[in-house]
Amino acid sequence: MTQRLYYHDSFLYEFEAEVREVQNTPKPSLFLDRTAFYPTSGGQVFDIGLISTENEKLKVTEVADADDGRVIHYLEAPAKALQPGTKVHGQIDRTRRRDHMQQHTGQHVLSAAFVRLFDLHTVSFHMGDDYCSIDLDTPTLTKVQIEQAERLANEIILENRAVEISFVTREEAGKLGLRKVPVTERDELRIIDIRDFDLSACGGTHVNQTGQIGCIQLRKAEKVRQGWRIEFVAGQRAVATARRDFTTLTETAALFSAHIYDVPTQARKSLDEIRSLRKQREQFLEELAEAQAVALLAETSETSGRKLVIRTFADRDINFLKLLAQRLTRLAPNTVAALGTTSPQPSLVFAQSTGQPFDMGSLMKETMAKHGGRGGGSKDMAQGGLPNAEAIPLALGNVSAALKG
Ligand SMILES: [Zn+2]
Repeated sequence: MTQRLYYHDSFLYEFEAEVREVQNTPKPSLFLDRTAFYPTSGGQVFDIGLISTENEKLKVTEVADADDGRVIHYLEAPAKALQPGTKVHGQIDRTRRRDHMQQHTGQHVLSAAFVRLFDLHTVSFHMGDDYCSIDLDTPTLTKVQIEQAERLANEIILENRAVEISFVTREEAGKLGLRKVPVTERDELRIIDIRDFDLSACGGTHVNQTGQIGCIQLRKAEKVRQGWRIEFVAGQRAVATARRDFTTLTETAALFSAHIYDVPTQARKSLDEIRSLRKQREQFLEELAEAQAVALLAETSETSGRKLVIRTFADRDINFLKLLAQRLTRLAPNTVAALGTTSPQPSLVFAQSTGQPFDMGSLMKETMAKHGGRGGGSKDMAQGGLPNAEAIPLALGNVSAALKG
């Protein structure tokens, strides 16, 4: 068993130890007699840092609990001169550890706040690189509850309460009324005591005073299978997140030339405007298609009893072509239309009035096969897209010949 120094002191960033075992497969790693490195467990992620001798500095990239109860330190590269008995000096990455302590102790305070206020229990805890989350065992959760829990958690932080570690037997623990008891065979439990606020059994690293958490900010809340998930950030993460939020809001507000608090109103106004402009545009396009169809039919003479309209546009989308084809084939009962546009997307639309003898779907398929595009449709209306604009006049030329023939 590795002696776990972080059990007694979470602020122990440097320590002396002795190598017990060196492994190079499957990954370079080593075991020590004692360690301050925290291995991933109980929702808290591992420490990183350095293990060094006079001649060698080894980067610790991951730390885990081995199956036999020892702590395994994974190294970036194999150790050259280490062997059992070598004395080493360990250094934990302080910034990362402090961040983990802030998130983890923040979680204790937050989970306890939900219990105290609403009797809502935390069923799981996750620590990520950007944010942490807890899952609450509840079918409902309101915005007001979230705000109240955040407020209480921050009050406990501001009161700078002591956070103490003690060790008790499982039997003693039963009488303490712990918020959380771990599922483990061990008889000795490590208790984290946030004075007069929370008692829970936990093997993680925590701050000594709640003030060291700094602050806690609740973020997204969403319904999940086992209840409600609440994302949160504590300490410097909360400051960094607030900074990022402010930057985003400021940039958005500048787009509207508005104050940040007016952004929702301004955004709503803009969306309403877009919606109404879109509606107007649709109306105009329909009117334009109608007028254009009338003009095209007027200038097209009948050949073999039908009007064949072939046209290429440079700046109409496929929806307009469809609209125009619809109008053309409805306004005159004997129309066959082959329309193309070169931009924004090179596209073709073929259509005929009901009762005309061609099959637009198969004509489109043939055309697409010939020019390397994709498309198809029904007997009276078909559409397709081609990879380049140059193919449009060529394709329409072929189709025109086929329809005349
Ligand atoms: Zn803990």
